[in-house]
Amino acid sequence: MTATQMKQQLLDELKERIERANVTPELKLQATQLVFGDGNAEAEVVFIGEAPGKNEDEQGKPFVGAAGKFLSEMLGMINMKREDVYITNIVKYRPPNNRDPLPEEKKEWLPYLQKQLDVIRPKLIVTLGRHSMDVLLPGLKISQVHGQPKRYKDLVYLPLFHPAAALYNGGMRQTLIDDFALIPTILKKINDKEE
Ligand code: URA
Repeated sequence: MTATQMKQQLLDELKERIERANVTPELKLQATQLVFGDGNAEAEVVFIGEAPGKNEDEQGKPFVGAAGKFLSEMLGMINMKREDVYITNIVKYRPPNNRDPLPEEKKEWLPYLQKQLDVIRPKLIVTLGRHSMDVLLPGLKISQVHGQPKRYKDLVYLPLFHPAAALYNGGMRQTLIDDFALIPTILKKINDKEE
């Protein structure tokens, strides 16, 4: 078994464990399915969004609606494909009517996100929007720190605006595209340091 296959197996096991467990039972009851995460189990970069929306809930995959299309476009701009990275959310069941996830819901999901990250062991974690930033880098303001890499407990984080928020807001859209363009340089710096 290759390293990637081994990691994928561990992720599959974690997914099954979550499906059997009762994480945020009220959300679970109303959702169609768990939206665990998708992509390369050995990715150097993991993107973490907020929670599944309608399309994600229906298809069981993160970022497959309008925000996801924009995310894929931005990956293309830095010569990456979705298959190169791993994409997930802090909350993995769709909140009713796409309401913001509650603080207790984010807290309840955090240990599972951490287990997922422990398997993948990415070099860079990109948070999309304030919800995933809040749980991983508490106390920061997205408007002040977006696009600034942060080293925290042996990992590098890059907080970015959420693609859904930036999609129809010209200024924020360009800021997100510009911040996104920093990813290859940040990754190269991390990799150069490791040599
Ligand atoms: N928005 C998110 O935060 N996550 C998704 O998976 C889709 C839209």
